[in-house]
Amino acid sequence: MPDLRKVAKFGGTSMADADAMRRCASIIKADPDKKIIVVSAIAGTTNLLTDMISVSDSGERAEIAGEIRKKHLAILSNLKNPASVEKKILSLLDELDIIALRTQIMTLMLKDEILSFGERLSSIIFTQLLSEESGEDFTWFDARKVIITDNNFGSAEPDVNAISEKATELMEPLIEAGRIVTQGFIGSEKNGATTTLGRGGSDYSAALFAEATDADVLEIWTDVTAIYTTDPRIVPGARPITEISFDEASELSVFGAKVLHPATVVPAIRKNIRVYVGSSIEPDKPGTWIVKESKDKPVIRAISLRKNQTLLTVHSLDMLHRHGYLAKLFQVLSDHKISVDLVTTSEVSVALTLDSDIHASGKQKLNEKILSELREFAEVEIESKLSLIALVGNNLDATAGLSGPVFGALENVNIRMICHGASSHNLCFLVAEDKATDVINVLHDKFIKP
Ligand code: ASP
Ligand code: MG
Repeated sequence: MPDLRKVAKFGGTSMADADAMRRCASIIKADPDKKIIVVSAIAGTTNLLTDMISVSDSGERAEIAGEIRKKHLAILSNLKNPASVEKKILSLLDELDIIALRTQIMTLMLKDEILSFGERLSSIIFTQLLSEESGEDFTWFDARKVIITDNNFGSAEPDVNAISEKATELMEPLIEAGRIVTQGFIGSEKNGATTTLGRGGSDYSAALFAEATDADVLEIWTDVTAIYTTDPRIVPGARPITEISFDEASELSVFGAKVLHPATVVPAIRKNIRVYVGSSIEPDKPGTWIVKESKDKPVIRAISLRKNQTLLTVHSLDMLHRHGYLAKLFQVLSDHKISVDLVTTSEVSVALTLDSDIHASGKQKLNEKILSELREFAEVEIESKLSLIALVGNNLDATAGLSGPVFGALENVNIRMICHGASSHNLCFLVAEDKATDVINVLHDKFIKP
């Protein structure tokens, strides 16, 4: 059998310290098919960099830069041969200190430049550690040369064709000769400025690398052993899923299972690349395969929860028998880069949900300006502290007698909004945040087969 080509991504917790890095190194050493290794920043670094960006006092910023320095030097001192990368690491850390002290105006471009330090630092240290542990020379590669994006700093859109061209030109010769370590999360726009793909974007980067280099398998090594039927912290009886389809996984990641960045499956679907999710802490425990066609297709495979939902209800009699009303509403939201998740409408009202968790998603939040623009043509109501619960599976739209038992099981719960029918893989609804845990437990017990 010819060699497989695998892209393996290791997240921040897999890079947390020298021991965690060594565990990743032994996973990589054991499998020569892992040709491209994509790493996140060391756990906590991107949060620190985000804090650094958000404070205006240069002294405070320098303090945060100092914390980042400490974290990295601790791992560096654990290397067998720290001298080999010390100069590079120190010069990056010095550069970060200078930015912390001298920056007067924080532009979007500079923010991404600052955020990129996390992955740049971790990948240099990890390349050295991996080479030491495996006895094989791994090549460090600057992801920004290949991950070409637009200039929407903070949440840049990749240019798939440009990425494919660059990967062929710059990565193929290296893969022929050996193995590569590169960074997740970061890219560059056409003038060469550094961009980022949004928080948690390393998974997405790895998928883009897999697509551009025609990989057979994309592996996401994280701190959970698998994708579960629901969050085990909420439902103790939650079980690992052995195999799930791309369609189901994309509903799951969109609807709150925090295991994968929501865009990760998109490149995998385009090129039919099998995705494996496993734990770098317990690599021998079975993980989850995400594939085009799963062998079994249960009606309800998993239940996901997304907290921090805002429900926006827009009401206007102008909507009655008019055209263009929805277009106008969505134009306002789009002008302000508000991303809408769910929509239901009646003759004179539209209800839509927005994710208030901007930290995780990089999206815009509702503000007074947007609301006053909407109020020019409609009455607007906002409810918050809601949770979105999604049942994910197969043929949910065509299974007779499904909604009766589902909502029957929740007869004492006020269901604020239901979306059913848009996708055969998902049925979802909104409930008050303080009811969500009970609701998920009831549904999991009743509908997920042990
Ligand atoms: N380091 C980035 C973050 O924490 C990207 C990633 O880890 O996926 O968001
Ligand atoms: Mg992640």
